[in-house]
Amino acid sequence: MQNTLQHTALDVEKVRADFPILKMQVNNKPLVYFDNGATSQKPKQVIDAIAKYYYEENSNIHRGVHTLSQRATIHYEFARETAQKHINAAAVNEIIFTRGTTESVNLVAHCFGKLFIEKGDEIVVSEMEHHSNILPWQVLCEEKGAVLKVIPVNENGELILEEYKKLLSDKTKLIAVTHVSNTLGVINDVKEIISLAKQKNIPVFLDGAQAVPHMAVDVQDLGCDFYCFSGHKIYAPTGIGVLYAKAKWVEKFEPYQVGGGTIKTVTFDKTVYADGPLKFEAGTPNMEGAIGLATALNYINEIGLETISTYEDELMQYATEKLKQLAGVKIYGDVKHKAAVISFNVNNIHPFDIGTILDKQGVAVRTGHHCTQPLMQHFNIPGTIRASFSFYNTKAEIDIFISALEKAIKMLS
Ligand code: PLP
Repeated sequence: MQNTLQHTALDVEKVRADFPILKMQVNNKPLVYFDNGATSQKPKQVIDAIAKYYYEENSNIHRGVHTLSQRATIHYEFARETAQKHINAAAVNEIIFTRGTTESVNLVAHCFGKLFIEKGDEIVVSEMEHHSNILPWQVLCEEKGAVLKVIPVNENGELILEEYKKLLSDKTKLIAVTHVSNTLGVINDVKEIISLAKQKNIPVFLDGAQAVPHMAVDVQDLGCDFYCFSGHKIYAPTGIGVLYAKAKWVEKFEPYQVGGGTIKTVTFDKTVYADGPLKFEAGTPNMEGAIGLATALNYINEIGLETISTYEDELMQYATEKLKQLAGVKIYGDVKHKAAVISFNVNNIHPFDIGTILDKQGVAVRTGHHCTQPLMQHFNIPGTIRASFSFYNTKAEIDIFISALEKAIKMLS
């Protein structure tokens, strides 16, 4: 077993002490949590911030003159600024709080589609998208008589950019692709995708659900029109997410849902909507979620995203090498440029069977299609076993995972 204390840049034992759930036993074995791609665990700083909100601040925001309401409003809006800084958006008004990535995609598909998509128009997605970045565009295309075009992936699970270039035409109205594949971990060359789209003045939507937890993201540097991520994958609570939309879209878009919080004035004849992100945040928002998100972003920034990336990369390389030593293992998306996710299968053993036996040994991985059925169809497989790592994981845990996997293979072969 490797000594987990030896890593120079990241004090992993100190970090692990912040995550209470990591001390748990599962099936009488220490928990090894490698399902971070599905959702991350939460540090006590985030749990405490949410508890503090309920102990000391709980109140509805934006419309109250009393102290608690004003305090909660300040913290909610401060969370927006924290999110803005985290992805380097040019203005705080470009940050819309949503329930998560899925709602962000739906919001843009609804608002963009309503104003700018007509019969015969084309929207481009990729073969590796999560269903959440396919279905809203598919529905929009069905409703408007538009056409969904798909960037294919090669056998390594990389987008074929030559094919992407061929898809771009005067009919293309929007590109919607993932920054990092949730199934393969492959990091897409989104700068090139954006640059080619810009040559034809086509806006680009990036699904950052799997990128933001692993790397620094700068939306101005990328030049995308839209970027989104989910709080729960980045050490924050569920039910909160961020949609970045360039100011011009925030101004042009009509509200996605309407109701309290979205308006300036209402009469029975006419409603005038609020400016900026509030126009899209109908009803009482997820205040504690926003506060938890800001706390989580501050937490990872204190560690440093470069430190996180480097450490996670080391874990992934270590696990990849170990996996390759096992007979019958096939890794999907085994490329250089990837985030800390490994998808694999072993011979013809069903991924669920391996996942179940790993769980009996305390090891949590995800098995199945990972909400990317078209990608599974591309590889002609029902699913994979996916181990996804976080900076709180260790090489010692990878050793446990590998020996648990060896046992599972023995039992199932
Ligand atoms: N996009 C990607 C790449 C994802 O990995 C996920 C979740 O796994 C989603 C979208 C959907 O995110 P959420 O369920 O938080 O809305």
